[in-house]
Parts: sequence; C-alpha cells; structure tokens
Amino acid sequence: MTAAQVINITKVETSKLNDLSLENIPFGRYFSDHMLEADYENGEWKNVEIKPYQPLLFDPSLAAFHYGQAIFEGIKAYKSESGEAFIFRPYDNFRRFNVSAERMCMPTVPEEIFIEGMRQLIEIDKNWIPARKDHSLYIRPFMISTDTMLGVKPSETYKFMIILSPTGPYYATPMKINVEERFTRAAPGGVGFSKNAGNYGGSMKAAREANKQGYDQVLWTDAVEHKWLQEVGMMNVFFLVNGVALTPSLEEGTILQGVTRDSVITLLKEAGIPVEERRISIDELITAYKAGQLQEVFGTGTAATIAYIKELKYKDEVMTFDTDSWKTAPFLRKQLGEIRESAIPDTHNWMFKI
Ligand code: PMP
Repeated sequence: MTAAQVINITKVETSKLNDLSLENIPFGRYFSDHMLEADYENGEWKNVEIKPYQPLLFDPSLAAFHYGQAIFEGIKAYKSESGEAFIFRPYDNFRRFNVSAERMCMPTVPEEIFIEGMRQLIEIDKNWIPARKDHSLYIRPFMISTDTMLGVKPSETYKFMIILSPTGPYYATPMKINVEERFTRAAPGGVGFSKNAGNYGGSMKAAREANKQGYDQVLWTDAVEHKWLQEVGMMNVFFLVNGVALTPSLEEGTILQGVTRDSVITLLKEAGIPVEERRISIDELITAYKAGQLQEVFGTGTAATIAYIKELKYKDEVMTFDTDSWKTAPFLRKQLGEIRESAIPDTHNWMFKI
C-alpha cells in the first residue's frame, strides 16, 4: 500500500444504533455510523478516510451536478448464524465499477481503496449488518467528478465514497411488466453496460408511464426495432422455455453485467438446466407462450435476488403465469439465499470474509 492509501480512521463517539432497531428496516433509508471518502487529484488517489457519516459541502459549479460523470455500485454484506460477516462477490462489483469508470472517462479505483476500504469500513460498522434471515447490509460505493467550473470535458478531480445502509427482507411480490416499445434505455455504442447515474435518470419516465397503466416496470427492448429484449427495470431477465434458460447476451453492450445474473447462470448449469445467452425477441417469447412452452420469467439483481414476473404485456398480447407452480426460480432464490447466509457450503468462493 502506498503512503497515499493509508486509511485514516475517525470513529463516532456514540453509535446511532442505540436508537434504531434493524428488524424489517426499509431499503435505503438509514445509513450506518461511518463512511469512506477518497479524493483523486493530480493523477493519484489521496486523503483516504473512514469518518462519521455526514453531509458534503460542494460548490454549485461541481462538474457532477452538470455533466453526469457519476457512477455507482450495489453490493450486500451478510452475517452468518455464527455471527461472521461476509460480502457477496465484491470483486465482481469492483471490476464492473472500473469498467463504468473507464467508459465515463473517470479514473479507476485501486483494490486497496475499493476492496480494502470496504472491508475496513464494514469491520468498523459490522454491528450494522442485521443478524436476521433475509436481512443484509447494502453497500453503495460511488464516484463523482468534482472539478468546479463549467465546460463539458472530463473532470480532473473526483471523489470516491462508500456508504452503508442496513436493509430488511425485500418482499418481492410477483410483478406485472409492460414490454417497452417507445422509450429506449440503451443502444449499441452507448453506456448501457455501465452503472452510471444517467442511465437511472433516463429510465424513470418509462417506469412512471408503465405504473400509470398498472404495471410495475418495463421490459426494455432494443433502440431500433423495439423487439429484442434487454433488461427488466433494473434487473437482468431470464426466460425458461421448454426446460432451457434464455437470457439476453452481453455482446451488444446494452445491458448491465449483473453479478446475480452470473451467479444464476452458474447455479442453473450446475443443476443441469441448459443456459443460452443470446438475442431473444418478443416474437420468440409469444410463440413459445402460445405453444405452452414459456414456463417461467424472472428478473435477477442484488436488491430482489430473484423477482418473479406474473404478467408480461406486449401490444394486445397479455401473457400470464402461475408463479405458484414454478420450480426453477424458487430453487434459485432458495439456493442463493442459503449461500449468502452461509447456510450451505460456499463451493464457488463467492463469500468474501470480512
Ligand atoms: N441491470 C441494471 C440496470 C441494474 O441496475 C442492476 C442492479 N445493479 C442489475 C441489472 C442487476 O445487477 P446485479 O445482479 O449485479 O445487482
């Protein structure tokens, strides 16, 4: 570790935990006692600090407010029955974060800050990981550009931070999804594969329009023909057709490379279920549905793990599913849950011990 990456630590005097119960806590509402902060200046990372969670003070001309160099990640930490703390696949998020950074002309963050900083932060705030079934500590690393002047160009200075938010069970009721024909999330050559803030801002209108029609989210389609399937809201999507799991491939760079997606592909293959990563059109799904071969449809992501889809609507076609009769999605949900809570052996080395 270089001198610049020594992590200075200032602890709170009194933990906020004294006034808070971690049972059934809603997602993203409460933050732990400490946060990690690091600054990028003159081509290097410096001032790496863990300190009490607190507001930031910025000049109104801050580049991130205007030109969108802002990226983030979402990771979860769990506590095993014996009280040990683990993070689920943090190196995958670390790599994806730096892929996003590269795409947005931002500096990459070294492992000593991203992984080691996260480890030390969670070590300090480990009492914030709820020791309850289906509870976890959500980890939000992010980076913003911090130059203070106007003008569209990559910033020369940046701030990297990690904040932690305890979260209760995600009661994922089966979703109703509208296949999006008007709005576009991502196009080839764009930024769909990166986890940058603008992708989320740009997706809200489609979700809001879908909500007005009684749908929970949209299934994104390609920018040109609006028929090739991409992602469902903020999750990757899987279709079980005649015993084969289909999921859109990453090749076009229009979807996020989900860590849950990768875990699900691994577990499916181990269970003997063939997986095809390829282009999938809405027409193929409708044909399979009409032939009685479209068995299960579900989203995958860190927040919900596996989210069942009970209805898919495209133009006048409404495809409905009896999620109670499903076998595969519930198997994946159970298996991933047990791995994360260390209830079964971690044969894939997915759990990173704090
Ligand atoms: N797609 C998008 C657009 C997302 O925001 C997320 C959540 N990070 C995912 C897919 C799922 O990725 P992961 O399994 O890594 O959470």
